[in-house]
Amino acid sequence: MVVELISVGTELLLGNIVNTNACFLSQQLAAIGMSVYYQTTVGDNEKRLQGTLKEALKRSDIVILTGGLGPTKDDLTKEVTAKVLKKELVEDKNTKKRIKEYLGKSHYGEITENNWKQAMIPEGALVIDNDNGTAPGLVVGSEDGKKVILLPGPPNELIPMFKEKILPILKESSEEIIYSEMVKVAGIGESRVETEIADLIQNQSNPTIAPYAKTGEVHLRITAKAKSEKEAKKLVKPIVEELKKRFKNAIYTNKEEENLEDALVRLLNKHDLKVTTAESCTGGLIAGRLVNVAGVSEVFNQGLVTYSNKAKRKLLDVSKSTLKKYGAVSKQTAKEMAVGAAIFTNSDVAVAVTGIAGPDGGTEEKPVGLVYIGCYVNEKTVVKEFRFNGNRNKVRELTVVHALDLLRRTIIENYE
Ligand code: ATP
Ligand code: MG
Repeated sequence: MVVELISVGTELLLGNIVNTNACFLSQQLAAIGMSVYYQTTVGDNEKRLQGTLKEALKRSDIVILTGGLGPTKDDLTKEVTAKVLKKELVEDKNTKKRIKEYLGKSHYGEITENNWKQAMIPEGALVIDNDNGTAPGLVVGSEDGKKVILLPGPPNELIPMFKEKILPILKESSEEIIYSEMVKVAGIGESRVETEIADLIQNQSNPTIAPYAKTGEVHLRITAKAKSEKEAKKLVKPIVEELKKRFKNAIYTNKEEENLEDALVRLLNKHDLKVTTAESCTGGLIAGRLVNVAGVSEVFNQGLVTYSNKAKRKLLDVSKSTLKKYGAVSKQTAKEMAVGAAIFTNSDVAVAVTGIAGPDGGTEEKPVGLVYIGCYVNEKTVVKEFRFNGNRNKVRELTVVHALDLLRRTIIENYE
């Protein structure tokens, strides 16, 4: 099923607002296996909107228009749709009643005449009640069996309407069901992930594997189309198994809603481990990510920001000679930071980071992006050297992801 989006609004063309509706709808449609080949943005102009809608109806099965359903004169999506589909506009009694009730409850004062414009619908259209505003959504059929769906522009009206009322209609009109599973990988670069699964991607048709690169992570979505969910699951399963074989510990979750810090906290909980963080170049970002997780208090003992050498010495007992001989950004310092963090705060495990985030401070020997991450787990320390590319923010973000991931992997290696 091919779906096309038309975003209506001069505001969008002027760059006054960002087209978040198109982004939301495209994601939702992709998730149910509908193909979106075109997104068009057009201003509040009758002629151009007419042309755009006619063009869209030639090449797509379903056209979704958003915006321009309001009560004012420049809102003309419905009028243009009726014209293109050769339908009369007729008054919908239920909608009129609903608008009256809705406006009666709000504090906008008198109901003005133009509000009733919103109760006019193309004859035969399916009316989708708007629980968060006055303009109803509409599903209008064309002579040749296509569908035009009109949705209100404000996201707080469009999103619930789409999820609750339009999605079921769209799912019904497709004969196949779409089922997808997620495999999230951390600590391996995007290009390496792609290379490792090149053979799988090359031969894919059903299911498909789509990699999405995130900072320090790659998410792989495996999607199958089939007559039933059971059948689709059967198609997805061997691919997920194959990915598990190839990426092993690099996979931190199969759950759509779980992120890296969730997975780490889950693991700490599972093994009843208390953690301390000691951060230099990330200045508390790692602790911040951990605290994103509700219920982290069970496992998070303390977060230290030890930016200066003095703090590293005083709070983590990094030795003077280590700092002098190897420098603050060194394998040795990262190791002593991790050990000190765990011992001084009485934690089972600790993660420590020290690095050069830039833009200044780099040398030939120790360039910007050089980061050491140390983990203390099970009375042993692991330190890894990283050389990240990017600006200060990027280096710090990558450091956080790799620190969370290295701790996760080290715990798995020691406890599972
Ligand atoms: P209203 O009844 O509020 O006039 P409408 O359906 O006529 O709603 P528009 O007038 O086109 O919609 O847009 C109203 C508001 O909705 C915009 O000012 C903007 O804040 C938001 N909006 C419209 N289109 C989009 C879009 N594509 N992406 C994000 N927000 C949008
Ligand atoms: Mg409007």
